[in-house]
Amino acid sequence: MAKQAPDVLAFDFDGVICDGLWEYFQTAWRAYCQLYDLSPQPPPEGLAERFYPLRPVIETGWEMPVMLRAMMMGASDAEILAQWPAMALPYLEACHLTPKAAAQAVDTVRDTWINTDLEAWLALHRFYPPLLAVLRSAIGTLPTYIISTKEGRFIQQLLHQNGIDIDPGFILGKEKKQPKYETLRQLLEQYSVPDQPAHIWFFEDRIKALQAVKAQPDLETVTLFLADWGYNLESDRELARQDSQIHLLSLEAIVQEYFQWL
Ligand SMILES: [Mg+2]
Repeated sequence: MAKQAPDVLAFDFDGVICDGLWEYFQTAWRAYCQLYDLSPQPPPEGLAERFYPLRPVIETGWEMPVMLRAMMMGASDAEILAQWPAMALPYLEACHLTPKAAAQAVDTVRDTWINTDLEAWLALHRFYPPLLAVLRSAIGTLPTYIISTKEGRFIQQLLHQNGIDIDPGFILGKEKKQPKYETLRQLLEQYSVPDQPAHIWFFEDRIKALQAVKAQPDLETVTLFLADWGYNLESDRELARQDSQIHLLSLEAIVQEYFQWL
């Protein structure tokens, strides 16, 4: 149990509030076809089922189509789990591509899909119901932020569809172009008063993002939670269990232990 009640809440989006695995794979596949100059075609059978458990090792959007490229070129699941993201770049360089081009392919696919068939795109997202309840109660009670590496406009659209309208100023997406700990540092400055640093609760499903926050000595008043329902591996959850500063959190605990006051 975190000792100190929070002044500010900060949630990651994918894998914490929203399960976008279906959309993630479909978008990655379309972007892969576009990036590697293939005609649009359905993915091979079984590829999605292989992709889902590998999702936790992806750090940023541009890696999505590149991981599919690696799989299509014969990389094994074990190799990907052990060596991603270090093994990603050569799959771009071999075709004279860049992470920027891969990122653009992903965003273009999403934008086109949203503009042409919004319903179908939205239907590929599932939300974790306890988190929607937490968000609904928290907004208006406490400053409640979403810090994500997804574009803010996509998050806005998805939350709106679920009846949650957050002021765009509270959605800090990919367009911020900075690590999450930097965003947390700015929130800390914004909400602290002299001699009284603000207490921020930060919910995230990537252990590396939490470890990066922990490595910043000035962010010690940020309480770190690893969402065990999100995109992480058992080895990540074990690291959290052994870490006195990172709290491993379940969906049951978030409601019963942390947000019962809402
Ligand atoms: Mg996440």
